[in-house]
Amino acid sequence: MKTKASGFNTTLVHGGKVDDQYGSAITPIYQTSTFSFQSAQQGADLFARKEEGYIYTRIGNPTIAALEHCVAELEGACGAVATSSGMGAVALTCLALLNQGEHVLSTASVYGPSRILMEKHLVRFGVESSFVDCSDLAAVRRALRPTTRLIYVETPSNPMMQVTDLAAMAELAHAHGARLAVDSTFASPYLQQPLRLGADVVLHSVTKFINGHADVVGGIVSAGTPELERRLRELMTLLGCNMDPHQAYLVHRGLKTLALRMSHAQLGAARIAAWLEARPEIAWVRYIGLPSHPQHELAKRQMSGFGAMISFEMKGGLEAGRRLMDHVQLMLLAVSLGGVETLIEHPASMTHAGVSREERAAAGITEGLVRLSVGIEEPEDLLADLEQALQHV
Ligand SMILES: *Cc1c(COP(=O)(O)O)cnc(C)c1O
Repeated sequence: MKTKASGFNTTLVHGGKVDDQYGSAITPIYQTSTFSFQSAQQGADLFARKEEGYIYTRIGNPTIAALEHCVAELEGACGAVATSSGMGAVALTCLALLNQGEHVLSTASVYGPSRILMEKHLVRFGVESSFVDCSDLAAVRRALRPTTRLIYVETPSNPMMQVTDLAAMAELAHAHGARLAVDSTFASPYLQQPLRLGADVVLHSVTKFINGHADVVGGIVSAGTPELERRLRELMTLLGCNMDPHQAYLVHRGLKTLALRMSHAQLGAARIAAWLEARPEIAWVRYIGLPSHPQHELAKRQMSGFGAMISFEMKGGLEAGRRLMDHVQLMLLAVSLGGVETLIEHPASMTHAGVSREERAAAGITEGLVRLSVGIEEPEDLLADLEQALQHV
């Protein structure tokens, strides 16, 4: 496996800290909309960027900057731009990297709202999009158009946990004159750092593993070059999709335990995945850490661990999935992922219940598909919960 940059936990704890006059142990919440200037000249210098400092919180704020600096350090980025939500980060990335007449090529199973943004809205501004299985490099090569300027991949992807070879994809993108952006939400910077593999931009919904406590919505985009960071930051201030100081404080607080949370959760996930694979009620299990996963070897090379996300198919289809949902006691029935609590979701009876069976099938959502985001509870308790719930299936 690829070894992580040394001192990951140390960066989590100390990265990005702001020195204040009182020697605060953690970065305080600078809950202010604006910052006063010492003189007219200083105001002019700040606006002209001749002097470092803060002007107005939509443009920048010390609490937000602390989080941005910490994530940039973890990703090996020149800089990072925090956003109001993960979708803020997705929209910012697309709008910053695409021009009229250009084409974006993306993962077939990309996060639903990201696909809607590209297919229904970017197209209004003359940006075309198409979607392909990005774990298949030959298919990606065939889908490139002369106008492709952005390859936007999500890896691992949802819900089938497909893994894209990021080094190969970066090479392919750059040879074509395109950039590579990676939605790395499912992995978090603890398991993979796409910029170090050649990507130009990496983004996260920090709502998930980075914050990790299911109490904040937020996003962040990290850039591989200062030019890209400037472009992202300028557009963020114009779109107004900035994070706010209190949100940044909570996310930064959650981030400090990312490695502790993720390393514990993925131990539980590995046990649960292996247990599920041996159960007669389950048709198949998709977990990156299982040798049965089609990109298990690639994941071993590219990631430093296998994460906490598992998908599996109930042999009994829709009804079996529904009964499983109605009988778990400890796990929460909820969308989202990456928190300390285990979440379970059955798209066919929950999020996609209003969609026809045919449309679900077209979106790759089989009738018995269940997704687990494994938290940090004791694995024995999670297994006991699944065991008792499966008795009702
Ligand atoms: C949740 C999620 C998003 C969107 O993030 P929000 O914080 O909900 O706006 C984007 N990409 C992926 C992979 C996600 O899981």
